[in-house]
Amino acid sequence: MQPFAIIALVLILTRVVTELWLSGLNQRHVREQANEVPFAFRGVIDAAMYRRSVVFTGIALSVPGLPFAWYVQFKIEQRFGFNTTSMKTWIADRIKGLLLALLLGYPLLLLVLKLVEWTGTNWWLWAAAVVIAFQLLLLLIAPAIIMPLFNKFTPLPEGELRQRLFALAQRTHFPTRSIEVMDGSKRSRHSNAFFTGLGRFRKIVLFDTLIAQLTEPELESVLAHEIGHYKKRHVIKMLSVSMAGVVVAFAATAWLARQQWFYRAFGFTYQGGFAAAHFVPAILLFAMLAGTISFWFSPLVHVWSRRFEYEADAFARVAMGETQSLIQALRKLTKNNLSNLTPHPLYSSFYYSHPTLLERERALGIEG
Ligand SMILES: [Zn+2]
Repeated sequence: MQPFAIIALVLILTRVVTELWLSGLNQRHVREQANEVPFAFRGVIDAAMYRRSVVFTGIALSVPGLPFAWYVQFKIEQRFGFNTTSMKTWIADRIKGLLLALLLGYPLLLLVLKLVEWTGTNWWLWAAAVVIAFQLLLLLIAPAIIMPLFNKFTPLPEGELRQRLFALAQRTHFPTRSIEVMDGSKRSRHSNAFFTGLGRFRKIVLFDTLIAQLTEPELESVLAHEIGHYKKRHVIKMLSVSMAGVVVAFAATAWLARQQWFYRAFGFTYQGGFAAAHFVPAILLFAMLAGTISFWFSPLVHVWSRRFEYEADAFARVAMGETQSLIQALRKLTKNNLSNLTPHPLYSSFYYSHPTLLERERALGIEG
């Protein structure tokens, strides 16, 4: 075997072993903590519910991969009372997802390969530009065209909640056209809030499950947190980094595609030139390795995204003038999503984009 193939294989194997080890480490850690509900949770979560969250997390995380999606949805989520998806919805989702991938992804791949032939040496710059433009277009059309394929969106009805949320948006200088309710309960009891669309097309979306679970001040604090992400420019920062990632990935693919040893390492013959077919192995192999390489960078990315969460929480504290609503909302959401409260620190550094509830409460000034 060629040295490069050996390095690639070692990278992939080390990742698999590390993932298994982290998962074992975390399960042991969580089990050790399972008998006591952390202080901050007393009164919100009873001991039985807490142990249930520990078991759920354990199981959900030990079943990796897409082939298990059905199992997770209908056996595990069902067992813990989250699943509300009908079989019909589940199958329709899979078909719509596949059609979208075919309709949008396949032409994009063909276009990238054509660019190799059309533009020669600088193909990777063109390809990166096209993929980035495509991503931006997707962001722009998703709220109007793609998301309604999967969910129903209705304007938040007139009333106190609507007034309260629009007042918050105005107070924080967050221009929004509409606040809509999404039928998240069609699929599960998990809850969320987000905003979507760019510029004037922006709208705030609340899951119906969120509205059912939280009081009005709590809902306002969740929205204040989301607005914090926008005001602190987190979305633009994340987007810029992902765009830079696209450029780096194409540059690396273009470089690899010029290396004879790269082809030999994987048993292909190097032909040179800019025939599209000849670039397919380089693109496929790079895509295969990209996941493994990005896995080793995930702790870095997560340090960054957790800092964003703290910043958004701090923004919400200022916008609300108090911390209790946000803390109560976070506690309820953690309880209702049965999130793991006490992951092993090493495990969470690889897999958690958000700080745990206890860390967030501590940052908001409440000692756990
Ligand atoms: Zn957040």
